[in-house]
Amino acid sequence: QAGQAQREIPFGKPDSLTKVYAIASGKGGVGKSSVTVNLALGLAAQGLKVGVLDADIYGHSIPAMFGIADSQPTQVEDLIMPVPTASGVSVISIGMLKPRRDQVVAWRGPMLDRALVQMLADVYWGDLDALVLDLPPGTGDVAISLGQHLPSAEVIVVTTPQEAAAEVAERAGTMASMMHQRVIGVIENMSYLACPHCLSEGKDHRIDLFGSGGGARVAKTLSERFGYDVPVLGEIPLDISLREGGDAGKPVVEADPTSPAARVLHKIAADLS
Ligand code: ADP
Repeated sequence: QAGQAQREIPFGKPDSLTKVYAIASGKGGVGKSSVTVNLALGLAAQGLKVGVLDADIYGHSIPAMFGIADSQPTQVEDLIMPVPTASGVSVISIGMLKPRRDQVVAWRGPMLDRALVQMLADVYWGDLDALVLDLPPGTGDVAISLGQHLPSAEVIVVTTPQEAAAEVAERAGTMASMMHQRVIGVIENMSYLACPHCLSEGKDHRIDLFGSGGGARVAKTLSERFGYDVPVLGEIPLDISLREGGDAGKPVVEADPTSPAARVLHKIAADLS
Protein backbone atom coordinates (compact mmCIF):
# COMPACT_ATOMS: atom_id res chain seq x y z
CA GLN A 1 0.00 0.00 0.00
CA ALA A 2 1.02 3.57 -0.67
CA GLY A 3 2.99 5.16 2.08
CA GLN A 4 3.80 1.87 3.79
CA ALA A 5 7.45 1.43 4.61
CA GLN A 6 8.97 -1.25 2.44
CA ARG A 7 10.60 -4.24 4.05
CA GLU A 8 14.19 -4.86 3.04
CA ILE A 9 14.90 -7.55 0.47
CA PRO A 10 17.10 -10.02 2.38
CA PHE A 11 18.90 -11.31 -0.73
CA GLY A 12 19.83 -7.79 -1.80
CA LYS A 13 22.09 -7.18 1.20
CA PRO A 14 25.86 -7.51 0.71
CA ASP A 15 26.19 -10.06 3.53
CA SER A 16 23.51 -12.35 2.09
CA LEU A 17 24.66 -15.97 1.81
CA THR A 18 21.90 -16.86 -0.64
CA LYS A 19 22.88 -17.41 -4.26
CA VAL A 20 20.22 -16.02 -6.55
CA TYR A 21 19.92 -17.59 -10.00
CA ALA A 22 17.64 -15.87 -12.49
CA ILE A 23 16.60 -18.15 -15.35
CA ALA A 24 16.06 -16.09 -18.49
CA SER A 25 15.15 -16.76 -22.10
CA GLY A 26 14.61 -14.70 -25.20
CA LYS A 27 11.29 -16.28 -26.05
CA GLY A 28 8.71 -18.66 -24.62
CA GLY A 29 8.55 -22.40 -25.11
CA VAL A 30 12.28 -23.08 -24.94
CA GLY A 31 12.00 -24.89 -21.59
CA LYS A 32 12.90 -22.08 -19.18
CA SER A 33 10.33 -23.13 -16.57
CA SER A 34 11.24 -26.81 -16.91
CA VAL A 35 14.87 -25.89 -16.32
CA THR A 36 13.95 -23.71 -13.30
CA VAL A 37 11.99 -26.49 -11.60
CA ASN A 38 14.47 -29.27 -12.29
CA LEU A 39 17.52 -27.19 -11.51
CA ALA A 40 15.96 -26.20 -8.17
CA LEU A 41 15.33 -29.85 -7.32
CA GLY A 42 18.81 -30.74 -8.54
CA LEU A 43 20.30 -28.16 -6.15
CA ALA A 44 18.09 -29.51 -3.35
CA ALA A 45 19.40 -33.01 -4.13
CA GLN A 46 22.89 -31.59 -3.51
CA GLY A 47 21.75 -30.84 0.04
CA LEU A 48 21.00 -27.15 -0.48
CA LYS A 49 18.01 -25.31 0.97
CA VAL A 50 16.27 -23.96 -2.11
CA GLY A 51 13.47 -21.52 -2.92
CA VAL A 52 11.77 -20.90 -6.24
CA LEU A 53 10.18 -17.60 -7.23
CA ASP A 54 7.98 -17.79 -10.31
CA ALA A 55 7.97 -14.31 -11.84
CA ASP A 56 6.79 -15.44 -15.28
CA ILE A 57 3.64 -13.33 -15.57
CA TYR A 58 2.57 -14.91 -18.85
CA GLY A 59 3.37 -18.50 -18.04
CA HIS A 60 3.48 -18.93 -14.26
CA SER A 61 3.50 -22.69 -14.83
CA ILE A 62 5.88 -23.48 -11.97
CA PRO A 63 3.27 -24.58 -9.37
CA ALA A 64 1.73 -27.09 -11.80
CA MET A 65 5.15 -28.47 -12.69
CA PHE A 66 5.84 -29.00 -8.97
CA GLY A 67 2.41 -30.59 -8.48
CA ILE A 68 1.22 -27.83 -6.14
CA ALA A 69 -1.13 -25.94 -8.48
CA ASP A 70 -4.01 -26.06 -5.98
CA SER A 71 -1.98 -24.85 -3.01
CA GLN A 72 -2.13 -21.32 -1.72
CA PRO A 73 0.45 -19.59 0.45
CA THR A 74 -0.66 -18.93 4.00
CA GLN A 75 -0.14 -15.74 5.90
CA VAL A 76 1.41 -15.44 9.34
CA GLU A 77 0.98 -11.92 10.66
CA ASP A 78 2.20 -9.80 7.77
CA LEU A 79 4.46 -12.43 6.23
CA ILE A 80 3.54 -14.75 3.37
CA MET A 81 4.54 -18.39 3.86
CA PRO A 82 5.78 -20.01 0.64
CA VAL A 83 4.27 -23.34 -0.42
CA PRO A 84 6.60 -26.28 0.28
CA THR A 85 6.97 -29.04 -2.32
CA ALA A 86 7.19 -32.70 -1.33
CA SER A 87 10.99 -32.44 -1.22
CA GLY A 88 11.05 -29.24 0.78
CA VAL A 89 11.63 -26.61 -1.90
CA SER A 90 9.79 -23.36 -1.02
CA VAL A 91 7.71 -21.96 -3.87
CA ILE A 92 6.00 -18.64 -4.54
CA SER A 93 4.39 -17.84 -7.86
CA ILE A 94 3.08 -14.58 -9.20
CA GLY A 95 -0.01 -16.67 -10.04
CA MET A 96 -0.58 -17.20 -6.29
CA LEU A 97 -0.91 -13.46 -5.73
CA LYS A 98 -3.95 -13.18 -7.99
CA PRO A 99 -7.36 -13.23 -6.31
CA ARG A 100 -8.65 -15.78 -8.83
CA ARG A 101 -6.74 -18.49 -10.63
CA ASP A 102 -8.27 -17.80 -14.06
CA GLN A 103 -7.56 -14.10 -13.79
CA VAL A 104 -5.12 -12.70 -16.33
CA VAL A 105 -2.22 -10.66 -15.02
CA ALA A 106 -2.27 -7.48 -17.12
CA TRP A 107 0.05 -5.39 -15.02
CA ARG A 108 2.24 -2.54 -16.08
CA GLY A 109 5.78 -1.94 -14.88
CA PRO A 110 5.01 -0.40 -11.47
CA MET A 111 2.51 -3.14 -10.52
CA LEU A 112 4.93 -5.84 -11.63
CA ASP A 113 7.69 -4.16 -9.70
CA ARG A 114 5.56 -4.14 -6.56
CA ALA A 115 4.67 -7.81 -7.04
CA LEU A 116 8.32 -8.75 -7.43
CA VAL A 117 9.34 -6.79 -4.34
CA GLN A 118 6.49 -8.39 -2.40
CA MET A 119 7.59 -11.87 -3.44
CA LEU A 120 11.17 -11.09 -2.40
CA ALA A 121 10.62 -9.11 0.79
CA ASP A 122 7.21 -10.08 2.22
CA VAL A 123 7.68 -13.82 1.82
CA TYR A 124 9.25 -15.72 4.70
CA TRP A 125 12.02 -17.50 2.78
CA GLY A 126 14.11 -18.46 5.79
CA ASP A 127 17.83 -19.12 5.34
CA LEU A 128 18.12 -20.22 1.74
CA ASP A 129 21.29 -21.44 0.07
CA ALA A 130 19.80 -20.77 -3.35
CA LEU A 131 16.82 -18.89 -4.76
CA VAL A 132 15.94 -19.78 -8.34
CA LEU A 133 13.86 -17.23 -10.24
CA ASP A 134 11.81 -17.98 -13.33
CA LEU A 135 11.74 -14.77 -15.37
CA PRO A 136 9.20 -14.02 -18.09
CA PRO A 137 10.64 -14.56 -21.58
CA GLY A 138 12.19 -11.55 -23.27
CA THR A 139 13.68 -8.34 -21.99
CA GLY A 140 10.75 -6.67 -20.26
CA ASP A 141 9.76 -4.91 -17.08
CA VAL A 142 10.49 -7.79 -14.71
CA ALA A 143 14.10 -8.03 -15.90
CA ILE A 144 14.55 -4.30 -15.27
CA SER A 145 12.98 -4.53 -11.79
CA LEU A 146 15.12 -7.50 -10.93
CA GLY A 147 18.24 -5.64 -11.99
CA GLN A 148 17.29 -2.78 -9.68
CA HIS A 149 16.34 -4.86 -6.64
CA LEU A 150 18.74 -7.78 -6.97
CA PRO A 151 21.83 -6.63 -8.86
CA SER A 152 23.74 -9.57 -7.37
CA ALA A 153 21.49 -12.14 -9.08
CA GLU A 154 23.36 -14.42 -11.46
CA VAL A 155 21.65 -14.97 -14.77
CA ILE A 156 21.42 -18.25 -16.67
CA VAL A 157 20.17 -17.99 -20.26
CA VAL A 158 18.15 -20.88 -21.71
CA THR A 159 17.98 -21.31 -25.47
CA THR A 160 17.24 -24.00 -28.03
CA PRO A 161 19.81 -24.80 -30.76
CA GLN A 162 17.95 -22.80 -33.40
CA GLU A 163 19.57 -19.73 -34.90
CA ALA A 164 16.48 -17.56 -34.39
CA ALA A 165 16.15 -18.65 -30.75
CA ALA A 166 19.84 -17.99 -30.10
CA GLU A 167 19.54 -14.46 -31.46
CA VAL A 168 16.73 -13.50 -29.05
CA ALA A 169 18.50 -15.32 -26.20
CA GLU A 170 21.53 -13.10 -26.76
CA ARG A 171 19.29 -10.07 -26.30
CA ALA A 172 18.02 -11.41 -22.96
CA GLY A 173 21.62 -11.93 -21.84
CA THR A 174 22.65 -8.46 -22.97
CA MET A 175 19.72 -6.95 -21.11
CA ALA A 176 20.83 -8.66 -17.89
CA SER A 177 24.32 -7.29 -18.36
CA MET A 178 22.96 -3.78 -18.93
CA MET A 179 21.27 -4.17 -15.54
CA HIS A 180 24.76 -5.00 -14.13
CA GLN A 181 23.97 -8.64 -13.52
CA ARG A 182 26.48 -11.33 -14.27
CA VAL A 183 25.51 -13.94 -16.84
CA ILE A 184 27.08 -17.14 -15.49
CA GLY A 185 26.21 -19.44 -18.35
CA VAL A 186 23.96 -20.74 -21.08
CA ILE A 187 21.86 -23.90 -21.04
CA GLU A 188 20.97 -25.34 -24.42
CA ASN A 189 17.66 -27.20 -24.14
CA MET A 190 16.04 -29.53 -26.68
CA SER A 191 19.60 -29.98 -27.96
CA TYR A 192 18.99 -33.22 -29.80
CA LEU A 193 16.84 -36.32 -29.91
CA ALA A 194 18.62 -39.59 -29.19
CA CYS A 195 17.44 -41.95 -31.95
CA PRO A 196 15.58 -44.69 -30.02
CA HIS A 197 16.24 -47.41 -32.64
CA CYS A 198 19.95 -46.71 -32.61
CA LEU A 199 19.99 -46.77 -28.80
CA SER A 200 18.35 -50.19 -28.81
CA GLU A 201 21.20 -51.36 -31.05
CA GLY A 202 23.74 -49.87 -28.67
CA LYS A 203 24.56 -46.92 -30.93
CA ASP A 204 24.31 -43.28 -29.91
CA HIS A 205 22.88 -41.41 -32.87
CA ARG A 206 21.70 -37.86 -32.32
CA ILE A 207 18.99 -36.24 -34.42
CA ASP A 208 19.40 -32.46 -34.46
CA LEU A 209 15.69 -31.73 -34.55
CA PHE A 210 16.13 -28.01 -33.96
CA GLY A 211 19.49 -27.62 -35.65
CA SER A 212 22.65 -27.26 -33.64
CA GLY A 213 25.03 -24.73 -32.17
CA GLY A 214 22.58 -22.24 -30.63
CA GLY A 215 23.87 -22.58 -27.08
CA ALA A 216 27.50 -22.35 -28.13
CA ARG A 217 26.71 -19.34 -30.28
CA VAL A 218 25.01 -17.48 -27.42
CA ALA A 219 27.89 -18.34 -25.07
CA LYS A 220 30.49 -17.11 -27.56
CA THR A 221 28.65 -13.89 -28.40
CA LEU A 222 28.05 -13.00 -24.75
CA SER A 223 31.64 -13.87 -23.76
CA GLU A 224 32.95 -11.52 -26.47
CA ARG A 225 30.45 -8.81 -25.62
CA PHE A 226 31.02 -8.87 -21.85
CA GLY A 227 34.75 -9.63 -21.81
CA TYR A 228 34.42 -12.58 -19.42
CA ASP A 229 33.79 -16.27 -19.97
CA VAL A 230 30.13 -17.24 -20.34
CA PRO A 231 30.23 -21.04 -20.61
CA VAL A 232 27.66 -23.53 -21.89
CA LEU A 233 26.58 -25.18 -18.62
CA GLY A 234 24.93 -28.15 -20.30
CA GLU A 235 23.01 -29.49 -23.28
CA ILE A 236 19.69 -31.04 -22.34
CA PRO A 237 18.30 -33.49 -24.90
CA LEU A 238 14.68 -33.81 -25.90
CA ASP A 239 13.28 -36.34 -23.47
CA ILE A 240 9.72 -37.61 -23.14
CA SER A 241 10.30 -38.11 -19.41
CA LEU A 242 10.92 -34.41 -18.96
CA ARG A 243 7.70 -33.42 -20.70
CA GLU A 244 5.66 -36.09 -18.91
CA GLY A 245 7.14 -35.14 -15.54
CA GLY A 246 6.24 -31.49 -16.10
CA ASP A 247 2.67 -32.31 -17.10
CA ALA A 248 2.17 -34.67 -14.17
CA GLY A 249 3.67 -32.38 -11.53
CA LYS A 250 6.47 -34.90 -10.93
CA PRO A 251 9.68 -33.28 -12.19
CA VAL A 252 12.03 -35.55 -14.11
CA VAL A 253 15.12 -35.11 -11.91
CA GLU A 254 13.19 -36.82 -9.10
CA ALA A 255 10.73 -39.00 -11.03
CA ASP A 256 13.26 -40.42 -13.50
CA PRO A 257 16.74 -39.37 -12.34
CA THR A 258 18.59 -41.61 -14.79
CA SER A 259 16.78 -40.34 -17.87
CA PRO A 260 19.03 -38.47 -20.33
CA ALA A 261 17.60 -35.02 -19.52
CA ALA A 262 17.70 -35.60 -15.74
CA ARG A 263 21.36 -36.65 -15.87
CA VAL A 264 22.35 -33.39 -17.55
CA LEU A 265 20.27 -31.35 -15.10
CA HIS A 266 21.79 -33.12 -12.08
CA LYS A 267 25.26 -32.47 -13.51
CA ILE A 268 24.53 -28.75 -13.96
CA ALA A 269 23.21 -28.54 -10.37
CA ALA A 270 26.26 -30.36 -9.02
CA ASP A 271 28.62 -28.02 -10.91
CA LEU A 272 26.81 -24.97 -9.53
CA SER A 273 26.86 -26.10 -5.90
P1 ADP B 1 9.14 -22.01 -21.25
O1 ADP B 1 9.15 -21.85 -19.77
O2 ADP B 1 10.42 -21.58 -21.90
O3 ADP B 1 7.94 -21.43 -21.91
P2 ADP B 1 8.48 -24.80 -20.69
O4 ADP B 1 9.46 -25.20 -19.67
O5 ADP B 1 7.10 -24.47 -20.26
O6 ADP B 1 9.07 -23.58 -21.55
O7 ADP B 1 8.48 -25.93 -21.82
C1 ADP B 1 7.57 -25.91 -22.90
C2 ADP B 1 7.12 -27.33 -23.19
O8 ADP B 1 8.20 -28.09 -23.71
C3 ADP B 1 6.63 -28.06 -21.95
O9 ADP B 1 5.55 -28.88 -22.30
C4 ADP B 1 7.84 -28.91 -21.54
O10 ADP B 1 7.45 -30.11 -20.88
C5 ADP B 1 8.44 -29.23 -22.89
N1 ADP B 1 9.90 -29.43 -22.82
C6 ADP B 1 10.82 -28.54 -22.37
N2 ADP B 1 12.07 -29.06 -22.47
C7 ADP B 1 11.94 -30.31 -22.97
C8 ADP B 1 12.86 -31.37 -23.28
N3 ADP B 1 14.17 -31.24 -23.11
N4 ADP B 1 12.34 -32.53 -23.75
C9 ADP B 1 11.00 -32.68 -23.94
N5 ADP B 1 10.09 -31.73 -23.67
C10 ADP B 1 10.54 -30.54 -23.20
